[in-house]
Order: sequence, then C-alpha cells, then structure tokens
Amino acid sequence: MSRKIVTIDGPAGSGKSTVSRLLAERLGVLYLDTGAMYRAVALQAKRLGMEPDEEKEIGRICRDLDIRFQDDGNGLRILLGDEDVSQAIRTPEMDLWASRVSALGEVRAAMVELQRKIGRAGSLVAEGRDMGTVVFPEADYKFFLTAPLEVRAWRRYKERLERGERVSEEEVLAELEKRDTWDRTRSIAPLRPAADAVIIDTSDWSAVEVVEQVLKNMEERGPCGSWD
Ligand code: C5P
Repeated sequence: MSRKIVTIDGPAGSGKSTVSRLLAERLGVLYLDTGAMYRAVALQAKRLGMEPDEEKEIGRICRDLDIRFQDDGNGLRILLGDEDVSQAIRTPEMDLWASRVSALGEVRAAMVELQRKIGRAGSLVAEGRDMGTVVFPEADYKFFLTAPLEVRAWRRYKERLERGERVSEEEVLAELEKRDTWDRTRSIAPLRPAADAVIIDTSDWSAVEVVEQVLKNMEERGPCGSWD
C-alpha cells in the first residue's frame, strides 16, 4: 500500500469540483477541496469586518482558524469550528472575496501548510489552482481541466439559475473573467498548468466522461496498485 496524490487544477467553471469528487469516490480516497478553504478564510475575514487586502490581519486569523471537512454521505460539508458554512461560502460575493484573499502571501502560506499536512495523512484527490505546481509538485498524477470562458460562464450561469438566483449571463461572464484574471496574474502561485500536467478541455464532456478519461490516462501510465 502506498500513499498517492492526484492533483486537479483549473479555472472556475472547468468542472474540476464534480470531477474531483467523483474521482475521489471511484478511487476510495479523500477529496480535498482547497477552494473551500480559501472561501472559509474569506467568510471569516468578512464577518470580522476586515477588507480583503488586509494581509497581516487576515494572515493572523488563518493561523487560528479551525477548518474541517466532513462527509455526511450527502456531499462534503465544510465546517468553521462547529458551524457548517458549506452554503455561506458559495455566494457570488464570496467568489470574489476568496479570489482576493487567496492572493495574500500570509494566507497562502497558512493554507499550503494545512493542505500538505492533510496530504501527509493519506492518499487524496486535491483540487485547486496550485495543487500540481506548488502544494504537491511531487504528485503521482496531475491534471489541468479547462474550457473556453464562454463555456465555463454558461455552466455557472445555469448553476446559479438552478439555485434560484436572478442573474444575467453577461454578469456571470464578467465576474468569471475578473476572477480568472486575478487568479492567473497574481504574483504568488498563479493559476497555470504544471509542466507535467495532462491538460483536458472539458467543453464537450460530462463530468462522468472526464472522470473516465482521467482514469484511463492513469491506467495507461501503469498499474496504480493499492492505495492507502
Ligand atoms: O475553486 P473555487 O472557485 O472554490 O476557489 C475560490 C477561489 O480560491 C479561486 O478563485 C482562487 O482565487 C482561490 N484558490 C486558490 N488556490 C487554490 C484554490 C482556490 O487561489 N488552490
């Protein structure tokens, strides 16, 4: 038995959350949603009345933040202390806040440390922006999911309508573009594929089909053996 790490990076709306969750289920390993961690930091900072660029203050709260994941069979819940914040972190406002606070060096240092600690405990599928480049450069399998902006915006637009939000497609596209630019151009851990990542354009595929492609690619590189 050996510990193995699969990284799935990519921009918002590329399908990486669903793919990562399904893949982790198929492999029987932990799913680490690192975007949720940055979102939890953003939520806490906002609740404490901070601005998203206050690096020292937000860095300080990161060190004491009790972020935990819990799988209750109905999907992954994220807890801040004892409070389930899974819904509170997934608002359009938190989309932008998370992108802002994740550009802060002190925040990234604290989160990367926590992510590596979780990674040392066992095999996982780690999803985010810098999993293959910064957090787990030694990962066994690296994937980068992508799709054109219009395709990703359309997916997000449909998701938000399903949640009962009243939003226009143009608004969703503009927000996604803004977040993409922040994530790709920040100086620390910008969004980009690792040199050894397999890039998959998910435009024409369902999440289940992408998982099949990922598994096929992993098998082609040799037997995975057993995972612990
Ligand atoms: O993946 P998700 O949309 O939940 O991530 C929210 C934000 O957190 C992203 O826009 C990005 O700025 C940030 N993030 C990051 N590094 C990660 C995961 C997320 O910077 N590993």
